[in-house]
Amino acid sequence: MKRVLGDDWVLPALDALNRAFFTSDVLTLQQCSRCRHIQHPPEDVCESCQSFELGNFASAGVGCVESVALVTQAVHPLLGDRVPYAIVLVSIADAPGILLTGNVVGVEPDDVRIGDPVTVVFEEVRDPRSGDEIRIPQWQVVRG
Ligand SMILES: [Zn+2]
Repeated sequence: MKRVLGDDWVLPALDALNRAFFTSDVLTLQQCSRCRHIQHPPEDVCESCQSFELGNFASAGVGCVESVALVTQAVHPLLGDRVPYAIVLVSIADAPGILLTGNVVGVEPDDVRIGDPVTVVFEEVRDPRSGDEIRIPQWQVVRG
């Protein structure tokens, strides 16, 4: 899948906390092994019970657009040929309270609406510096 913001746009730097989110083949969120709380972004400690016993939750990757911003002005020279693009906040059906930020594919950026159902899709790119295979979650509008 072609990257929404272009192949030259910065990639996330992987670390122990975000590696599952950015390398899994399903939407992977952090979940507390003690109280089952799901949180994002991943942290060292559960924000609900303060446990350090944290694991992963494999989400179905289905959500709803809660907010949309249409970017029409390139804020960086690398984005000059990428505008307009949409930035969305997506609530996750099987992870209540979680909002994920991303871009939208499948519809024109100015056609994204609050309330649109979306499903996760992944931009796959190899980081040329580290060799890591990175999978960036993005959102595809699903309309019947
Ligand atoms: Zn907990």
